[in-house]
Amino acid sequence: MIAKHFDSIQTSPTTAVSTRAMELARQGRDIIRLSAGEPDFETPEHIKQAGMKAITEGKTRYAPVQGVPELREAIAEKFRRDNGLDVDMDQILVGVGGKQVIYNALMATLDPGSEVVIPAPYWVSYPYMTLLGHAKPVFAAADSSTGFKITAEHLDAALSARTKWVIINNPCNPTGAVYRPEELRALADVLVRHPHVRVLTDDVYEHIRYDGVPFATIAQVAPELGDRTLTVNGFSKGYCMTGWRLGYAAGPRALIKAMIKVQSHSTSGVATFTQWAGIAALQGDHAFVARNNLRFEARRNFMLERLNAIDGISCDKPDGAFYLYVSCAGAIGRRTPEGKVIATDEDFALYLLDQVGVAVVHGAAFGVSPYFRISYATSEATLEETCDRLEKACGALARGKET
Ligand code: PLP
Repeated sequence: MIAKHFDSIQTSPTTAVSTRAMELARQGRDIIRLSAGEPDFETPEHIKQAGMKAITEGKTRYAPVQGVPELREAIAEKFRRDNGLDVDMDQILVGVGGKQVIYNALMATLDPGSEVVIPAPYWVSYPYMTLLGHAKPVFAAADSSTGFKITAEHLDAALSARTKWVIINNPCNPTGAVYRPEELRALADVLVRHPHVRVLTDDVYEHIRYDGVPFATIAQVAPELGDRTLTVNGFSKGYCMTGWRLGYAAGPRALIKAMIKVQSHSTSGVATFTQWAGIAALQGDHAFVARNNLRFEARRNFMLERLNAIDGISCDKPDGAFYLYVSCAGAIGRRTPEGKVIATDEDFALYLLDQVGVAVVHGAAFGVSPYFRISYATSEATLEETCDRLEKACGALARGKET
């Protein structure tokens, strides 16, 4: 009954960890969940008010599939203001989160046998969406020596005649890496030599950056790639609007048209009042972004200091998003108090969940091991308790040779 290619499709592994953690919590265990990818801050009040006003005013009917024109105008203005991109309203599609926009793009363009180059560590949905499109994910893995960012050499090695897309996620989930303009330019130089390859840049964490690190998007540093670049963004992360389900993309007209077809036969687009809240978000006061980033930055610094003092784990300083991609290489090969050897990062994540009730996502889910991802989008008290528990869990692991 289930389609053959579904054998290789799983629900999001980050969701699976959350589900297991929830089960344990339901059984009465005290579980700290650091596995979800959403800010713990409320949607700013003026955005909520705009959504409520839209409902009161009767903006509750179907909207144009592509998105309400006023929102697409506000998005075009955002691209001009923040990214120096000049796009028309008809080059913009509004979708049910950045996720649906990316899905639309892949479904509209992938043929059986197409390849999608995905830098690893990656956001878990890219490979699964590629598989849903009957195409093949090709991973370009980057390690900590390049800050988990792919270089021109990585990209060059991953491209083939069948490559349809390269996906860039900047800032990156799960590593928090942020590409500098010159690093994007180096990737663009490779793509210039491969005119059959399109580039999808997922910029949903654009606003969440620290230490004054600049943001650039590839269409800005390489305008000559503009006619084969899809620039995806959204409201979930920077505007704390995960539950509103609002994202968008700008790209070549023919691609946007094809993506509208996918959307017209799937969701018909985004709730109308959500789109009006999105207009208020783009046009309203942005002071909350800096306020939230200060909180995130303090948490990041706190976590880095504590985690790097724990034997068995270590972490580099990321420039953006609200994740830490923590190496557990030092814990591999050690033995749990029950005598089980930690052989993989999944073993380590399960050990943390069972032993001290901390839910993280193991690195294999993101394509690079042995690591685990911590989301620090949670309260300072919770993070402190997390570090105490990790210290305890790591302290209880015995070194292989000593047992
Ligand atoms: N892209 C990345 C890298 C993400 O981490 C997420 C959410 O976790 C999304 C896209 C999708 O965000 P949304 O659909 O809520 O806009």
